Amino acid sequence: MARVMIIGAGGVGAVVAHKCAQVPEVFTDLCLASRTESKCKVIAAQLPRPIETARVDADNVPELVALFRSFKPDVVINVALPYQDLHIMDACLEAGVNYVDTANYEPPEVAHFEYSWQWAYHDRFREKGLMALLGSGFDPGVTNVFVAWAMKKHFDTIEELDIIDANAGDHGHPFATNFNPEINIREVTANGKYYKDGEFIETKPMEFSRVMEFPEGIGDKKIYLIWHEELESLVKFLEPRGLKKARFWMTFSDNYLKHLEVLQNVGMTRIDPVMYDGKEIIPLQFLKALLPDPASLGPLTKGKTCIGCQIKGTKDGKPRKYYIYNICDHEEAYREVKSQAISYTTGVPAMIGALMIVTGTWKGEGVFNMEEFDPEPFMERLNMHGLPWTEVFY
Ligand code: NDP
Repeated sequence: MARVMIIGAGGVGAVVAHKCAQVPEVFTDLCLASRTESKCKVIAAQLPRPIETARVDADNVPELVALFRSFKPDVVINVALPYQDLHIMDACLEAGVNYVDTANYEPPEVAHFEYSWQWAYHDRFREKGLMALLGSGFDPGVTNVFVAWAMKKHFDTIEELDIIDANAGDHGHPFATNFNPEINIREVTANGKYYKDGEFIETKPMEFSRVMEFPEGIGDKKIYLIWHEELESLVKFLEPRGLKKARFWMTFSDNYLKHLEVLQNVGMTRIDPVMYDGKEIIPLQFLKALLPDPASLGPLTKGKTCIGCQIKGTKDGKPRKYYIYNICDHEEAYREVKSQAISYTTGVPAMIGALMIVTGTWKGEGVFNMEEFDPEPFMERLNMHGLPWTEVFY
């Protein structure tokens, strides 16, 4: 019997609202709040039961606190943008509410994300007896749970981890991003980084690539090494368990990379203000306004995503190689919740993370990453709520 406040009515927020509404035995009361309330109302009208909606500026802590005090949520699911994380955490502390998000804090003026800002809230959440669960999307999120599961069930040591995110979907646009364009482009134009033998090694953007054969008919795709936030917490988790190497890979089509290169070359991905016609504009924010809204890709996208972890390590003194993944079909996701698979694979785990907290399945006071809890109940819920997983020993 829990009250849930979802913040952010974008592609992911829509899926979280649908999935929470599908579990009335746990989530009895829902409120979807965002900067543009009309977007919340459009989503609310698609749901099988009535929910509340509200307008909120999630950068305004007093406004958030007032909203939390009036709706009295047990948990807030933050699926606005990473820029809002700290403001929403501040408001949760003030109003006494548990917190879940899917992406770590990133300051608007620097394209740089890391957990330190949010980990610094640990003592304050602990002192208030509240729980903050960070990164409960797919990657980060399910990928962290996959690693905890592999460690619990199949390995004594994990020496190598490759997290591999393939979007083999096609939306028919010459160039579009599957989640918020600003966040997506900041992520993929940054330098890459991976972990090897006790240190992080920086690479140029897209410096390393290889072809991987994906399962279930997806076939060969080129994957590129990029830096991704879950490596930061997973390296801490796995270092005492034998880790030597950890990398994150993502597929990009040649077409996507060609467009991105041109946009970068002409300065359209810059995040510093430039003067235009007597006004300051940020080129990347202007570009976002021109690109298709990720939420509009739902009815257009065909194909599948495949996200998972390849792990090498040992069990009972013998070497072992293991691959665990989920396949999600864009068209099936759209039929169920009117969103494509990228939003679906993020929104389902966000709902499950909140469910773990409000049912007391995962208990903690402070700020936590996903791998710190027992993976089993989360893995069961993935199968129940639309993200079944497959494991292969090879
Ligand atoms: P969208 O841009 O589609 O949606 C973001 C929503 O947040 C919009 O409705 C926007 O409002 C709202 N918002 C932005 N700023 C504010 C504010 N100050 N106050 C209130 N609402 C605000 O993004 P997505 O749904 O694609 O992504 C949501 C989050 O999910 C992001 O943080 C993204 O990084 C994360 N993500 C995580 C993944 C994972 O696997 N872990 C994968 C994909 C995404 P408005 O409509 O008015 O602009």
